[in-house]
Amino acid sequence: MSMANKPSALQLLERVQSRGHLKNHFIVQSLPAGVDARGLEKISAEDAWALHRRLHERFIEKRGDTGGHHEKASPNFLDVKVKLAREMLASCDFCERRCGADRAAGKKGTCRVEVTPRVSSAFLHFGEESPIVPSGTIFFAGCNFACVFCQNEDISTDPENGIPVTPQKLANMATSLAMDGARNVNYVGGDPTPNLHTILESLAYQDSPVAQLWNSNGFSTVKAMRLLLDVIDIWLPDLKYGNDACAKRLSGIDGYWQILTRNLKNVHDEMIVPGHASLVIRHLVMPGHVECCSVPIIEWIAKQVPYAMVNIMGQYRPQHKVLSRHAEFKDIARRPSFEEIDAVRSLATRLGITWKPVS
Ligand code: SF4
Repeated sequence: MSMANKPSALQLLERVQSRGHLKNHFIVQSLPAGVDARGLEKISAEDAWALHRRLHERFIEKRGDTGGHHEKASPNFLDVKVKLAREMLASCDFCERRCGADRAAGKKGTCRVEVTPRVSSAFLHFGEESPIVPSGTIFFAGCNFACVFCQNEDISTDPENGIPVTPQKLANMATSLAMDGARNVNYVGGDPTPNLHTILESLAYQDSPVAQLWNSNGFSTVKAMRLLLDVIDIWLPDLKYGNDACAKRLSGIDGYWQILTRNLKNVHDEMIVPGHASLVIRHLVMPGHVECCSVPIIEWIAKQVPYAMVNIMGQYRPQHKVLSRHAEFKDIARRPSFEEIDAVRSLATRLGITWKPVS
């Protein structure tokens, strides 16, 4: 990746503010599926993925055409995505836990999120990164991670802690937030990934020209990423751990580093470099984890995803199981020191990462 062509910090900021861009999901909905509604219903999953690949190519051709009129086709590329998401739900592999639970039939996987998602709150958030506020934040109950230091344990550990939402109801929430001045619809939790099917389907009912923002732990499968890639305008993933051992111990996750770097690299190369979406990576500096986590993360970002902006967060504080199982987690039962946060930010500055406008 050439650093010579890297956009300036100002250009990256303008992108994330999404001024004057046609939102990606409108382009997706302007692309005819190429089969009628009945044909789409009957098509096999294999053929539907082949169709998705062809439509993705058409999306790439058309996405630069932001000035034209984009009338909704029926059925369209989004309908293909919704069909595929519903089929994945019957043997759930939205995330790399790959539970295989038949959620469509009422079974539950590790996240315990039911087929009808629950939203615990939706409001205009002014505490997110400055270029994206006010953000129309929608908090989904339930999570596929088990972070011992979770700051939202009331909703992440209780997937029933919210009101059930249909796609239309979710779209109404998004529209209402947009009318109140939100610059984006911010899907978060818990984690939004187990709710992918409903979020995709809700886009068909959203007419407001606000950006779609995916605020996630980034642990999606390649298939889930393919469904999301064309419709998300702003990616806001966490990159917490620089190795698998820390991810396993503190979030109960296997294979973290390979999966996260694979997903972020794909987003960066397919959407961020051509300028059709923005990427802000959140990295929470953890006490005692500068050498094992922060340093490899910052070095990887500088080398592999240089068009990303990075929020280097210093607000970690002991919570959740770090407090209730103090003896087990006493190594992270403190706030990170000024020296630890400064070491990470200084390294990012030395490596040319854009972090100040979003930290
Ligand atoms: S989203 Fe939930 S049910 Fe689906 S694979 Fe992930 S943890 Fe399992």
